[in-house]
Amino acid sequence: MTVRVSRKAKFCYSCGDVIESAAVVCPRCGVVQPAVTAEAQSERRILPAFLLCFFLGVFGAHRFYAGKIGTGVLELLTAGGLGIWWLVDMIMILTGSFRDSEGRKISAWT
Ligand SMILES: [Zn+2]
Repeated sequence: MTVRVSRKAKFCYSCGDVIESAAVVCPRCGVVQPAVTAEAQSERRILPAFLLCFFLGVFGAHRFYAGKIGTGVLELLTAGGLGIWWLVDMIMILTGSFRDSEGRKISAWT
């Protein structure tokens, strides 16, 4: 079987057949497709990021954890942007809107 996967295709959740990406139900097996997650989640977690930010935030530790080495060094050199950057980052982490180096949200606690 030759299958051409275009950007508009996805695999059926149940039978693995290639179906239209907008399809809600697979035409082959009739299984309802799960909703596509709007945004990729980071494999990094809020809890370690928060603890690093809380205790070592002025050294940019949470940014190193998130893979953001460049801004981590910057935060280290400016002592957490004189505390302001540090505070903003802490709120971002707690609300699950802090992103890792790949731009994925760190939204799970553990
Ligand atoms: Zn199917």
